[in-house]
Amino acid sequence: MERRAVIVGIDLGTSYSCVSIWRNDGVEIITNDRGNRTTPSYVAFTDSEILVGETAKNQASMNPHNTVFGVHRLIGRNFNDQDVQSDIKHWPFKVIDKNKKPYIRVEYKGKVKDFTPEEILSMILTKMKEIAGAFLDTQVKNAVITVPVYYNNFQHQAIKDAGLIAGLNVLRIISGPTAAAIAYGLNKKVIGEQNVLVFDFGGGTCDVSLLRIKERIFEVKAVSGNAHLGGEDFDNRLVNCFVQEFKRKFGKDISSNARAIHRLRTTCERTKCTLSASTQASIELESLFEGIDFYTSLTRTRFEILNQDLFRSTMEPIEKVLRDSKIDKSQVHEIVLVGGSTRIPKIQRMISEFFNGKTPNKSINPDEAAAYGVAVQAAILFGVTSEKIQDLLLLDVAGVSLGIETVGGVMMPFIKRNTTVPAKKSEIISTDFDNQHRLLIQVYEGERTRTRDNKLLGKFELTGIPPSPKGVPQIEITFDIESDGILNVSAVDKTTRRSNKITITNRGLSEKEIERMVAEAEEYRTDRENVAQKTQARNGLENYTYNLRNALQYIDTMKNKLEDSIQESIIWLENNQDAKKDEYERKQKLLEEIINQLIVKLYSVDSL
Ligand code: AMP
Repeated sequence: MERRAVIVGIDLGTSYSCVSIWRNDGVEIITNDRGNRTTPSYVAFTDSEILVGETAKNQASMNPHNTVFGVHRLIGRNFNDQDVQSDIKHWPFKVIDKNKKPYIRVEYKGKVKDFTPEEILSMILTKMKEIAGAFLDTQVKNAVITVPVYYNNFQHQAIKDAGLIAGLNVLRIISGPTAAAIAYGLNKKVIGEQNVLVFDFGGGTCDVSLLRIKERIFEVKAVSGNAHLGGEDFDNRLVNCFVQEFKRKFGKDISSNARAIHRLRTTCERTKCTLSASTQASIELESLFEGIDFYTSLTRTRFEILNQDLFRSTMEPIEKVLRDSKIDKSQVHEIVLVGGSTRIPKIQRMISEFFNGKTPNKSINPDEAAAYGVAVQAAILFGVTSEKIQDLLLLDVAGVSLGIETVGGVMMPFIKRNTTVPAKKSEIISTDFDNQHRLLIQVYEGERTRTRDNKLLGKFELTGIPPSPKGVPQIEITFDIESDGILNVSAVDKTTRRSNKITITNRGLSEKEIERMVAEAEEYRTDRENVAQKTQARNGLENYTYNLRNALQYIDTMKNKLEDSIQESIIWLENNQDAKKDEYERKQKLLEEIINQLIVKLYSVDSL
């Protein structure tokens, strides 16, 4: 029987990624080659290869300009986007403007190379695919992937493109908090109906989802998020604070020294995590800049004051989902915390206070909840028959309103934000002037009334409209949004039945670009394999050489021993002209034993 291709779940996080699978009637989080359950979402470029995960993160301070992280923030955005600009300021790697798109510029194998954010993500996906492949002993080709809730159509498409480059078929995309809610729902059999608020606060984003779980049906009621608020912002605050302190203490500005800043940032992140458990943390950085040691400390209270405004803004998405879903905070049964930054005591306190003292649920591991839920979704798509996930239905929502432009640049929404998807909606529109024979349909997303303030997703024309006074032709516009967020918009002239349509997969990358990137990804894989083979060969020679040296030392020792034994045997023979047969044999055995030990040693070197 042909084995069906497995479907893995990948929680593609800003800071860490995690791959999981449904096996033996449960979710298994797959450990990477280092034995870790999560892998840093880091990619580094060196003279000879591309590193991903721990190896990339660990060498970051030595190679700051070519170590890339946090690219989720660039996906589907313009170079001039304010958020992109503010991120660039903090990053040690270079981001350049190419046709208004942000590209990451690094040096790879001694040459300058520009990568799209999709390509960088594809490298992380490739790593996750390989981790799963090694564990399952099969080629992994299909995946369900989590993304932040605020991701729009473009960004979903970009994730699919990243999957394609990595040789992965992305079957479905679900939002991180929704995945976490599935984990929660499965973990704790929900009886009756429950409103569950998932607060997902990771390294780069703060996502909130409000779900109604009724037995096996998970219905997302509203989502909201801050795409630019996460643990890294707290790290940046600390970095800025210590750069100032260094300036005050030593009169030197370290901000343009990428290596020093990277070391400081790594320490700041560690300090932040320490302050989640202790009330005080010390910072010790030897020879941070121009040989100067930097020793200081930070209290939890000071950390909280430094980040006060950022902490406060985490409450906004919570308020928004409650407003949007028209659910009062008193009707929220459970608060589920997901993501590393929810370990910060102040955040937990603020949430608890907001919900009038309700304690957030901590029954699921905040680092693995999304990976757990995404594996469940993958299992459902795979058709796993298990009582645990049987009849489980996930109803997600559109995170942003979709519509078309009408007269005067006004947005006419078809699918409103937080509408359950998949969804289909039709409306009849007409012409704006007499004898108009073509109609331009411009598809936008966004919440503002003027389309100029929203985002144009794509446009198409319906032509051949028979001459008639304005307002007479009946053109039916249909918006059809699939469960993975892909949008189809069609226009049909009710009289002539002429039609036209567009699928908004308005990717930043063209088919051709993707083809090129797939081919390049193959080259990078070959580079990696070559390096791995080279390293293996070197390790082999190194082992052989050192073993040989050890053997030689052993032979030296044994040679001395042998010489002594031979000498002793000669003397014994001279003094024992007439010994017993057994005695001669015992003496011979002693000599043979030494020789045997030598032979065994030499064999052990050769069989390495
Ligand atoms: P995630 O994106 O969910 O993997 O979360 C990663 C973020 O959580 C990073 O910014 C980490 O620094 C942060 N984080 C992890 N553990 C802690 C902790 N104990 N206290 C504060 N922040 C943490």
